[in-house]
Amino acid sequence: MVYETGNRTIDDAVRRVLDGERLDRRDGLALIAQPVEDLAAAADYVRSQFGDGTVDACSIVNAKAGNCAEDCGFCAQSAHFDTGIDDYGFLDPEEILEAAKRAERDGAQRFGIVVAEKGVSKEQRPDEWDDVVRAIRLVRDETDVEVDASLGILTEEEAEILADEGLNHYNHNVETSPNYFPEIVDTHSFEDRVHTLEVAREAGMDLCAGVILGMGESPTDRVDAAVALQDVGVSSLPVNILNPVAGTPLAEDLGGSADITTEEIVETIAVYRLLHPEARVRLTGGREVNLDADEQHLPFEAGADGMLTGDYLTTEGQSPGDDIEIVERAGLEPNTEANDFDPEAVKERTADDAAVDTAAGTATEVQTDD
Ligand code: SF4
Repeated sequence: MVYETGNRTIDDAVRRVLDGERLDRRDGLALIAQPVEDLAAAADYVRSQFGDGTVDACSIVNAKAGNCAEDCGFCAQSAHFDTGIDDYGFLDPEEILEAAKRAERDGAQRFGIVVAEKGVSKEQRPDEWDDVVRAIRLVRDETDVEVDASLGILTEEEAEILADEGLNHYNHNVETSPNYFPEIVDTHSFEDRVHTLEVAREAGMDLCAGVILGMGESPTDRVDAAVALQDVGVSSLPVNILNPVAGTPLAEDLGGSADITTEEIVETIAVYRLLHPEARVRLTGGREVNLDADEQHLPFEAGADGMLTGDYLTTEGQSPGDDIEIVERAGLEPNTEANDFDPEAVKERTADDAAVDTAAGTATEVQTDD
């Protein structure tokens, strides 16, 4: 079947994507100017052709919180800003395992160990490094979830050790476009981030890298970030929407709310699907605060096929049962490939106990990730 919306720009792009062609920056800029309804329908179709009709859920633990020397303008965990969050050193690996088990129970297919740090360092903090490796081994050996980590900048040696220990995926977001990045971060560069992704890829890990929308970037920046990620080669593309935390520069600059509309969120997700037809386009932090309850399914009708479930690193998410209902409302179903869980049981349990304890366990937030 040939897909047609009657919009020539979109139809031509879909045809080329289905032919295996990679769309470029010019395509992305032309697409993001098209009507959102047409874009969403086309992206949904492309998802149906490349994907398996499932939405993949990941969950992460804030394994080392706060006091980070970097100055990312969105981040509650930077030592440069007074945000009042609790900081703590690397958790006991057994606690991380418990968090992974809760994530597994709640339907996550992938579990990420996240530290607030420019980079874990085998050389400078060997005891912490040993704990990181131990935590990876525990999650690898004692759960069915895939192991992910967001540990900041890596050396080649560190990346090889992590890959050998069974770390399947490495997360290191680029946050925004190369041009806009210096508006957000002074203490390291966009190129530093890309270099770490290349080191992780060379070591054999799949890459999870994405963006934060609503930080004051333009639609062109949104396209440019996705094009940069094409060059990097990501299998998972997390899309956060800024949830401004009081005390961070972006919260002050933007007056406490993200600079993006629902329509822009949906059109960006759709364009990302078309530029990355084979990646999991994953809706992550900030979705609950930037989309109304009856809008949350819209990105999943516009090409998204992944999500972060549970709480975020420093802010709360919604219940895993609610997340499953959003997926189902979009006509999709939860992925059960790595972790064969019962979605009905998760919905029932989390409805019975709306205050399910995710605060200490599946704590997840990508707006402080690395
Ligand atoms: S995003 Fe990561 S590197 Fe940047 S300040 Fe937060 S914890 Fe540090």
